[in-house]
Amino acid sequence: MSKRRPRIGGDRLPRIRLLPVLVVLLCCGVISSCALLPYLTDLATSTNSVHLLLGNPSGATSDLNTPNNYLIARPQYALSYNRDKGIPNWASWQLNTSWLGSLPRASFVTDTSLPPTWYQVRPDDYTGSGFDRGHVVPAADRNNRQTDNEAVFLMTNIIPQAADNNRGPWEKLERYCRDLAKQGKELYIISGWVGSGGNGERGKKTAIARGKVAVPAATWKVVVVLNQPGLGLESISNDTRVITVVMPNRQGIKDSDWRSYRQSVDMLEQLTGYDFLSNVPVPIQTLLEAKVDKR
Ligand code: MN
Ligand code: MN
Repeated sequence: MSKRRPRIGGDRLPRIRLLPVLVVLLCCGVISSCALLPYLTDLATSTNSVHLLLGNPSGATSDLNTPNNYLIARPQYALSYNRDKGIPNWASWQLNTSWLGSLPRASFVTDTSLPPTWYQVRPDDYTGSGFDRGHVVPAADRNNRQTDNEAVFLMTNIIPQAADNNRGPWEKLERYCRDLAKQGKELYIISGWVGSGGNGERGKKTAIARGKVAVPAATWKVVVVLNQPGLGLESISNDTRVITVVMPNRQGIKDSDWRSYRQSVDMLEQLTGYDFLSNVPVPIQTLLEAKVDKR
């Protein structure tokens, strides 16, 4: 007797077997498109982000092949994330009164929009480390809308900051910037860190969270002050005020004046290897970068 299978349905049989395969393939396609969506969104918004008006200091992109200079562009700010260090390299944001409100502080949250294979820093990674969860884009710079405030509490906007830096001259400069905004100015701020190893409430550390989060040696900031909102790049001249600071990430500086940490952009560019104000015409850029704010 022949063991050949009866040909039920004839040539329709292969098509029936293909159906589950097609369904699985279709589902995989839909799921992977959804997983890619946050990155595609970042890619789409990065080129025209208002927060990158002055430039992109490290040439960050949303290319997953450069995970330590990975651009995250949100409506609230743009930043370069460093996967291996578990902190942003820098963040850049616009500040004017439209961002300022009086909402209560949100809660720190893990940034689950990071690629799923990357380590996602958790709020409790900082617990007991001796370092503050230091906002790069300050909480009080984004407290007019709930979604904006939540965006600055994502752990991708946080670095380990010594309390005396974070709550001392660093915070005083943040307040000073908000005061300028309240006086009607529009600010473009770029802020980050440089070097390895800070001195917190539990002594010197180069990393916390079992090595997942690097502790920087210093924090820096470049603040470009425009006379009113909406003036844009064209309004930047040789007279534009630029405030640059570099502050050590250590205890013992709580009562220091932020003004005592002022430097030139040129010095900070040498220190970090970044190119700041790269969208400003070169003659003006050169002049502004050589100056140290004196006001
Ligand atoms: Mn802070
Ligand atoms: Mn430059």
